[in-house]
Amino acid sequence: MARFPEAEAKLLHMKICMKCNAHNPVKAHKCRKCGYKGLRVKSRISKAGKGGMA
Ligand SMILES: [Zn+2]
Repeated sequence: MARFPEAEAKLLHMKICMKCNAHNPVKAHKCRKCGYKGLRVKSRISKAGKGGMA
């Protein structure tokens, strides 16, 4: 359904609150739910890095 790569990219660039794990828009500077400023960009990590997965 993702005819537009940009639209799909937006879904991959949601910001996740590190406090309450709420999803926030990428343009958000703080969590819209709890106001916490610790937001991380939710990115799709496919290649195994420092995961240390056995
Ligand atoms: Zn939050």
